[in-house]
Amino acid sequence: MTIFTKIINKEVPAEIVYEDEHCLAFRDINPQAPTHVLLIPKKEIPTMNDATPADRTILGHLLLTAPKIAAQEGIAEDGYRLVLNTNASAGQTVFHIHMHIIGGRPLGWPPG
Ligand code: AMP
Repeated sequence: MTIFTKIINKEVPAEIVYEDEHCLAFRDINPQAPTHVLLIPKKEIPTMNDATPADRTILGHLLLTAPKIAAQEGIAEDGYRLVLNTNASAGQTVFHIHMHIIGGRPLGWPPG
């Protein structure tokens, strides 16, 4: 179990911006841009490498929910980035998959 499960269970506070049966979105505690939201499945999946075909529906749901949150945050038209860091070289620090929704400023490419 990670801190994100504690956020799901409301045992640790977070600024929640969206919630439904399958997922939760809250503001990153260390934002890298004016908008930086983390969208997570309520199901505990440590990394994208652990996702299976049984997770098809929840992963699709995350991808379809992210643009709704971007619209809610007012960054959908301007543009935003969806990021799923996986394991050490990508800088994953919390082993409960989370989609970063980042926007509100021009974003550089490629990532550092
Ligand atoms: P990653 O490096 O992709 O694993 O991203 C983990 C993210 O979780 C980082 O951007 C952290 O700032 C963020 N984070 C860690 N703990 C919390 C928390 N309690 N509430 C909100 N965001 C968090």
